[in-house]
Amino acid sequence: MAPNPIHHPHPADAPARRGSARRPPAPPKVPDETHGLDPAPADLVAKARLVHDRLCAVYGCPIGYFHDLDPLSELVSSLLSHRTRNADSGRAFKALRQRYPDWADLIEAPTAEVETLIHGVRWPEQKAPRIQAILKGVRERAGRLDLGFLADMSPAEARAWLEALPGVGPKTSAAVLSFSTLRMPALPVDSHHHRVAIRLGLIEAHVAVGPSHPLLRAQLPEGWSAQDLYDNHEVLMLHGQKVCHHRRPACDRCTLADICPSAFQVT
Ligand code: SF4
Repeated sequence: MAPNPIHHPHPADAPARRGSARRPPAPPKVPDETHGLDPAPADLVAKARLVHDRLCAVYGCPIGYFHDLDPLSELVSSLLSHRTRNADSGRAFKALRQRYPDWADLIEAPTAEVETLIHGVRWPEQKAPRIQAILKGVRERAGRLDLGFLADMSPAEARAWLEALPGVGPKTSAAVLSFSTLRMPALPVDSHHHRVAIRLGLIEAHVAVGPSHPLLRAQLPEGWSAQDLYDNHEVLMLHGQKVCHHRRPACDRCTLADICPSAFQVT
């Protein structure tokens, strides 16, 4: 991946000296993933860092990547995974890959056939036509069924490109950047991550998963690497799966109990 230009100011960005030779206009600045985000309050920044460090100590950062898919395949995988257990979405992805070794064949396939192949995921009747439409949208906009070109964009640009596809939101765009072979810095927020963040007071209870993405990202350092952000997502997700359950969280064995306003409050 090309280095992020925001950390390497172009010489043409320097103020022009009086009488200096004409120079070509400076290239537009390329925003990184935190571009345009309101800065998070200092107390939340400190707390998010403490949460990250403690959970990393428990779950062992750096966490190994669980996928090694090209970005287009990761897009399909992410669309299947919404509100679905990993084992079920993994089975559905495998079934699609076996039936359509070329994703172009999935676009042309009868939607009912796609729906049958992914019957184990939640809402297959919605996901089948959506995946076909999104792949078609990629081909129309990119000129080919390949998202490798996103590596030449900044994370913010790449996410905006993906989110311009109907049906692609911040969780999916972040997952494509972070989990695929792009390995770009982006913070996905899944339902476990979201629940734990609310209980810890990092975000307010009324903030939905989609709008929580920029809020939680803004609490983490601007220069964090892809691995740092992946670790943050993974440890919060793992904590939601293993300790901070949806019902009856195990606060008595939680490393965050002393800084959690919900400790021993949730039944
Ligand atoms: S103290 Fe309880 S509610 Fe708070 S993060 Fe830990 S398990 Fe969740």
